[in-house]
Amino acid sequence: MRTGALGLAAGAAAALLLAAAACSDQSPNTCFDSNGFSYGFYLGADTALVFHWPASRMPVRVYADPATVTRPNVVAGLQTWLGAFHCGEASATVTGDSTHADIIVRVVGTLPPQPVRAITLGSDSVGVCVGRTDGTYDTTLTLEGPVRSYIAPLGAPDSVALSGCLRMTTTHELGHALGILAHSPDAADIMYTTPRRSTLSVNDRYTLQMLYHTTATIRPFPLTP
Ligand SMILES: [Zn+2]
Repeated sequence: MRTGALGLAAGAAAALLLAAAACSDQSPNTCFDSNGFSYGFYLGADTALVFHWPASRMPVRVYADPATVTRPNVVAGLQTWLGAFHCGEASATVTGDSTHADIIVRVVGTLPPQPVRAITLGSDSVGVCVGRTDGTYDTTLTLEGPVRSYIAPLGAPDSVALSGCLRMTTTHELGHALGILAHSPDAADIMYTTPRRSTLSVNDRYTLQMLYHTTATIRPFPLTP
């Protein structure tokens, strides 16, 4: 059973390149949901601190541990977020190579210590699991390495509640890893501090759309040949 599930996940991942459908008409208004509201994506509510992956970095390489439930949750979470784009602003590929990844997602027993001077955003989902996303950056506002998302189970393994929490929290943390460095005050949004849903609200969609049409000030770490 376990082998079959892993084989399916690995096979799906091998051919996986997630991309939003590109519109032929890319005039700005077509790139946004018409009835959305942005709850903000600035780090610490500082409008000088904006991060999103640049067009030159597409597809964003996302590592998910292939031996756990992480990978299908990461695939689903990325599909959820990328599905919000109308103009092909971002794409992602899921990789099993953590040494060449922009985002690293792991399920861990307990959350690791928080790094110093990092983008650190946590979520505490309905008491069954928790998550946190870290990105350390230097004085030039350049990330020093990959963005790291951690998901830690708190409840009994294999419970329905835990599996739902892992899915929801992975999607929430991927929202941070894609650049939403804030939380929504509204429980109807997945970026609420304690998310209650695995799908995006119209405001989640609009916030991501606005982010990818805003000039970033925080840069990703440079690629090494
Ligand atoms: Zn969060």
